[in-house]
Amino acid sequence: MKIGIIGAGLSGIIAARELVRQGHVVELIEKSRSVGGRLATRRIGDGRADHGAVYFTVRGEELEREVQSWMNANWVRVWYADPYPRYVTIDGMNALAKRLAEDLTVQLNERVENVQVEEDGTVTVKTDVTTRSYDRLVMTAPLPQSFDLLGDLAVDVEPALRRLIYSPTFVGLFECAGDVQIGADGILDQELVPGVLKIVDNRQKGISETSLISVYMEEAWSEDWYERPEEETLAEVERLFREEVGVLDIPSRQLKRWRYAQAKDVWHEPFYQVSHHPIYLAGDVFLEADDPSGRTRFESAYLSGLRVAETIEKNMDR
Ligand SMILES: Cc1cc2nc3c(=O)[nH]c(=O)nc-3n(C[C@H](O)[C@H](O)[C@H](O)COP(=O)(O)OP(=O)(O)OC[C@H]3O[C@@H](n4cnc5c(N)ncnc54)[C@H](O)[C@@H]3O)c2cc1C
Repeated sequence: MKIGIIGAGLSGIIAARELVRQGHVVELIEKSRSVGGRLATRRIGDGRADHGAVYFTVRGEELEREVQSWMNANWVRVWYADPYPRYVTIDGMNALAKRLAEDLTVQLNERVENVQVEEDGTVTVKTDVTTRSYDRLVMTAPLPQSFDLLGDLAVDVEPALRRLIYSPTFVGLFECAGDVQIGADGILDQELVPGVLKIVDNRQKGISETSLISVYMEEAWSEDWYERPEEETLAEVERLFREEVGVLDIPSRQLKRWRYAQAKDVWHEPFYQVSHHPIYLAGDVFLEADDPSGRTRFESAYLSGLRVAETIEKNMDR
């Protein structure tokens, strides 16, 4: 069976690994030049800064077992554990995605433009590079992007799913000179100046040689500032950062803008089949029915990828 997966973020990679394990021919199509999606790390000078997921937490047994094997391989470690473990990748979140995708077939720098179903049931995926055909297709982009690609194929999708909206997030990345200390563990996330959600020192976090600080802005703040010029937004993030931590020497700064950082609501099934078509929507917004946290996160992306792959395998002859 030939299976296509749109998006090489965590859910796409996990689905691909499971389907390859079952013996299928699997191809990931990713518009960016690297895998990882929202597991994102930027190199700045001699340092590294995460600017997507900050850390991940584990509630279920399946991810727990997987994390044990990642810890044994020295890929991840506990950053701090108050009151429960926060896991990080030793060299930045993106490196975990790269390691997990190492043996997979990934078409990078290729943007899917639309998806069609042929009369014989084959799924045709038109990209900005070529046209590809699959027996099954998994789509893991944020939902508004997946629905754009599906066009009329999505007319019968439940309206509540089509209505899910996402909020943006700005992240400021600041290279700091001198001996910077951000709290005891390298993170501040309580009672910060309005607008600022988290301040993370990537050196204290253990992924950077240099003091690179990631400043995560709140959802409402990011919405208010979304259409403003980038320089103005970055200057305001820096002003609020300085207001929180005091005097700093900042030789360089950058801004990351996530259009679809996280969904405002979730879907209580781990994936969704588009009508009777061999097309499945997956990703962090799809939670297990009994998910204990009700939040989109690393673990929900992981489980969504796993469940959609298990179901495709189970229903192979249909
Ligand atoms: C700023 C920020 C902070 C976060 N902090 C945390 C945290 O601390 N803890 C936590 O657990 N989670 C956190 N998250 C959430 C976590 O990163 C996500 O839940 C998870 O990485 C989502 O994985 P995914 O595979 O569902 O989606 P994605 O990672 O978004 O993957 C989708 C992929 O599809 C690709 N794509 C989209 N459209 C197309 C197209 N047309 N053609 C080809 N490819 C396409 C994208 O480039 C992307 O690589 C954070 C997210 C952000 C943005």
